[in-house]
Amino acid sequence: MPNYLMALDQGTTSSRCILFDEKGAIVASAAHEFPQYFPREGWVEHDPMEIWSSQIGVASEALLKTGATWRSVRAIGITNQRETTIVWDKKTGAPLCRAIVWQCRRTAARCEELRAAGLSGMIREKTGLLPDPYFSATKLEWIFQNVPGALEKAKRGEVCFGTVDSWLLWKLTGGRVHATDVSNASRTMLFNIHTLSWDDELLDLFGIPREILPTVLPSSGLFGYAAPDVLGAGIPITGIAGDQQAALFGEGCHTPGSLKNTYGTGGFLLMNTGTAPVEQDEGLVSTVAWQIGDLVNYALEGSVFVCGSAVQWLRDQLGIVKTAAETEKLARKVEDTGGVYLVPAFTGLGAPYWDPTARGTLIGITRATNRNHIVRATLESMAYQTAEMIALMERVTGKKIAELRVDGGASANRFLLEFQADLLGIPVVRPSCIESTAFGAAALAGIGVGLYASENEVASLITEETRIDARQNDAWREEKMRAWKRAVERSLAWAEK
Ligand code: ADP
Repeated sequence: MPNYLMALDQGTTSSRCILFDEKGAIVASAAHEFPQYFPREGWVEHDPMEIWSSQIGVASEALLKTGATWRSVRAIGITNQRETTIVWDKKTGAPLCRAIVWQCRRTAARCEELRAAGLSGMIREKTGLLPDPYFSATKLEWIFQNVPGALEKAKRGEVCFGTVDSWLLWKLTGGRVHATDVSNASRTMLFNIHTLSWDDELLDLFGIPREILPTVLPSSGLFGYAAPDVLGAGIPITGIAGDQQAALFGEGCHTPGSLKNTYGTGGFLLMNTGTAPVEQDEGLVSTVAWQIGDLVNYALEGSVFVCGSAVQWLRDQLGIVKTAAETEKLARKVEDTGGVYLVPAFTGLGAPYWDPTARGTLIGITRATNRNHIVRATLESMAYQTAEMIALMERVTGKKIAELRVDGGASANRFLLEFQADLLGIPVVRPSCIESTAFGAAALAGIGVGLYASENEVASLITEETRIDARQNDAWREEKMRAWKRAVERSLAWAEK
């Protein structure tokens, strides 16, 4: 009988399921998009029941494709869009309202208030995060202040709060288990990442009753068993991690100083910082990467707001490319950008600039500039932004990075990876399985169920598909970065509020 690991990958726009065999090879997969709700400008919601039904749907679909039965699934790993906040009725399992998605900005004013009240330092020291609508705490506070009856029910111990992993775990176990893992807990802004426990001062600050919180468990180990009437067999659920942390694990970044970048719609750079969180005040966040047994690994995280979405902009707004993949061919038609730089500060700039009034800037245009130069400048912008974030991480950790592992949709672009390697002066490595998020969840589940002995065994399953060495020298790099920074200067302080 086959011995599959099933990864449930619950993302922001789609629910996916990938089945892996014991060697980490993909056996089958299925994906479903589900509806996004935008009730007001800047608000983003999901229907928790649609999250659940799409996720269970793709799980069955992937399994059916193999022709095997549920008994062939040795263990389940869950990975998920992080921070998204769900509150449901303990008895009926009905959500009290729609899920408030990580992208939702409805609590921006509240976060501004927290900053103005001088609470950023306390929040950063305890949680590794900065007051931002992104994280769950202010979303949960919003629900209790705005959904009639929610707070009273919560105080009577009749509701559960959870991020998407908890919600799926609860549904999968037929309402028997209300738990989360440390990596997801560390994104709520209610969790002390040093003591690994829910923090009373923060719970007080946001008016959150302790009774509603999930039990926090290591990322690998037994969370519970799927209810047989839900999945058809009592399969153990033995791995959970937030999507970026799962990707870090799935890329084999298990040792301090190892680093991965996901080139998706946005860019997510995570660096393993070992067994202690890094204290810094540069706008990066410190987060729990995962916990296996007693051993906790931390990570430093930085995000680039506009990464692959700049390519979507070329395609959908400018209409100068038909497909994202075509950008590679066009970029290679010219030797360089002819002095053109694109700073895709469409929504302002994050670390290390932190300027919400920065705006997209295309600069250096001459009469000779053509479409290929602009396409090339767009691809290069992903690499420049990543390089700046890496430089910042090297500065705050005092560690020199040896190689960059990559995944995400735009990592299919070899031109981008070559330019990235040149700009960093280190090799860029793409694994053969670019589904590193799902693989990370499956691998955590595999360790949790005793199929793999350790991270080392997981690492031995990861094979390199592409390794690109840097071809340029330091002088070239410095000149390139200097010019990029000049372009960024021009993009700053543009929008008048
Ligand atoms: P997400 O999971 O964030 O939705 P993906 O990891 O699927 O995103 O990556 C999709 C992004 O990658 C899109 O923004 C797309 O424009 C970009 N992309 C996809 N293929 C390529 C390519 N060959 N070259 C450049 N960008 C690409």
